[in-house]
Amino acid sequence: MGEVLAVDLGGTNFRMARVSSEGEILKRAVLSTKEATSVGEGLERLVSLVDGTEVPTLVFGAPGVVDYTKGHVVYAPNLDQEFLSELSVSALQAELNKKVILVNDADMAALGESELGAGRGGVTVVFVTCSTGVGAGVIHAGRLLRGHFSTMEVGHTRLGLEAMDEAESLASGTALARMAKEAGLVTDNPTLVKSAAANAGIEREVLSRVTEALGILLSNLAWLLAPDKIVVGGGLGLSDPVVMELTQQVFDRSVPKYLAGLRLSPAQLGDDAGLRGAAFVEAALATT
Ligand code: BGC
Repeated sequence: MGEVLAVDLGGTNFRMARVSSEGEILKRAVLSTKEATSVGEGLERLVSLVDGTEVPTLVFGAPGVVDYTKGHVVYAPNLDQEFLSELSVSALQAELNKKVILVNDADMAALGESELGAGRGGVTVVFVTCSTGVGAGVIHAGRLLRGHFSTMEVGHTRLGLEAMDEAESLASGTALARMAKEAGLVTDNPTLVKSAAANAGIEREVLSRVTEALGILLSNLAWLLAPDKIVVGGGLGLSDPVVMELTQQVFDRSVPKYLAGLRLSPAQLGDDAGLRGAAFVEAALATT
């Protein structure tokens, strides 16, 4: 397999890269979703920015549930709903004149982290991303867990009985910003994380609520899947040692005893986990 074009569609940006078969980024470009009149038009511009006209395959990581049998996205709560109807293999293939592979964004990033990042060498690797939304992917014995649909929609599982107890409303970057605002704090997450490290005030309290939800969510996954690696990524600030430590403390209290000692690993590939993981998607979907 040769190079592929990788697309990561987020709430505000389309990111595209030309990626080697080993997952190295050869050239990249970004476009604000506001600048694109449609998904197809945005992609066409990005293809030329990364010199990708000759690359035959485009791997599209979408922030929602993918129906792998029918080749379209069936649920994407954080995505501009106008884009949703365009997220089908047949529509994109016709528009771009390339082979299009649609994949869940967290599955794509899970492949990146397990092949090239913090999940390397694991037998059961659970990858969880906490940004605007919360998603996950599982790679077991080198295989991506999926059925007709993409799986591991952990962000929509509930940690309590109320609607607001959806994991995504409690343990995402969006949740952190909302709780900070409700507490009368700045909504800028990195600032919040830095001040939480420095004092034990309201910032720490807000951060504790988010990391508590995340720690519980991750321990539920540990009970279900008995992973040997849990990799956490996304914009929530998990590369920050304070956030990671608070989450680890909650995790340690709730994890099964036989998994005691399992350390949560911060993602190593940062924002590029998905783009780099695109190199492994076609093979992974063929074998699952
Ligand atoms: C979506 C998932 C996605 C996650 C991260 C969630 O809201 O339902 O499919 O992986 O956000 O983008």
